[in-house]
Amino acid sequence: MNLINKGNNFMKCTLCNKLIKDYSVEFNHLEINENHAVDICKDCINKFEKWQQAKIAKLFPTKIMKKIFNKK
Ligand SMILES: [Zn+2]
Repeated sequence: MNLINKGNNFMKCTLCNKLIKDYSVEFNHLEINENHAVDICKDCINKFEKWQQAKIAKLFPTKIMKKIFNKK
């Protein structure tokens, strides 16, 4: 009856240090290389995605993309 060692249910987010609910290796665990791995909660992943999407949107503004593809 060892509930504490039940596995991955008590992983903490590397970025915000909160406990990760419904931890899943597939979604929350990121291996950078042999020596570095991080666990990231959904909130941080969402923030990360929005942040990156904003960067990509700036890098590839739709108007410019349209010009490139409609010029031919
Ligand atoms: Zn987090």
